[in-house]
Amino acid sequence: MKVYLDGKLVDHDKATVSIFDRGFLFSDSVYEVIQVCNNKLFLFNEHIERLHRSLKELNIPIPAVDFLQICRNLLKDQEIVYGGIYIQVTRGRQENRSHFWYGQNIKPFVVAFVQASPPNLYKNLKVITYPDLRWQRCDIKSNSLLANVLAREEAAVRASDEALLINESGFINEGSSTNVYMIKQNKVITPPLRENILPGVTRKFCLETLISMGITCEESTLTKQELLTADEIWLSSSTKDVLPVEELDGSKINFNRDKSLWLKLHENFQKRKIDFLI
Ligand code: PLP
Repeated sequence: MKVYLDGKLVDHDKATVSIFDRGFLFSDSVYEVIQVCNNKLFLFNEHIERLHRSLKELNIPIPAVDFLQICRNLLKDQEIVYGGIYIQVTRGRQENRSHFWYGQNIKPFVVAFVQASPPNLYKNLKVITYPDLRWQRCDIKSNSLLANVLAREEAAVRASDEALLINESGFINEGSSTNVYMIKQNKVITPPLRENILPGVTRKFCLETLISMGITCEESTLTKQELLTADEIWLSSSTKDVLPVEELDGSKINFNRDKSLWLKLHENFQKRKIDFLI
């Protein structure tokens, strides 16, 4: 398998990164995961727009590379039916480790690779809640993911699929790698986009699809108590599309797939998806 490393496609076992790269030393880097469906890219432009935004917010220069060509070359080398392309841009290599980079000529470093994963678009998820221990700029898709990793690990230990992150005021921001929705009386509620959550590419596509179906969508805070009384709970991400939740901290959510709004959304989502693959 080949990976993209700073301008070249190289064998994955020959791809090495400097220990002086700030991505390695400080998590001084940003990333994207783009869904691949039938060897095509889903919502590519939206992901690259968000990548550019993340870079700008961190004052990392936008690398002069053609991300579409990189993705296409990777998918030529390794055709996949379903999975993702991971792209990471670090601030680059700095020989003398120091927190600041002011006045130094550092070139951003780009890596990308394909990851095949079987589609699992019908799974009911079990989720737990976990304190949101992250920093205050979760709208930037940075690689500082330790708090996300700890939350997701706790979910795995408790035989669950995802951890919903609760802040100090008791509001659920999002999952460790998903956006969250509550469905109550045919209305879809999801937390508003602030600096405490990632503006999910799938979230946007999901809300647009719901609006095209005539479903009312509202951006509002959510608590665990509210979620426990929900008709349905959904999670969305580029690797999952939108999946329903059947259990929250061990309590069953009465999810009936055949009668669910989720099923209607799923059908419309998959139909609309075809127009957004390149
Ligand atoms: N929230 C977090 C914290 C994430 O890491 C992700 C995806 O990785 C999402 C939400 C979903 O975003 P997207 O739909 O763009 O994949």
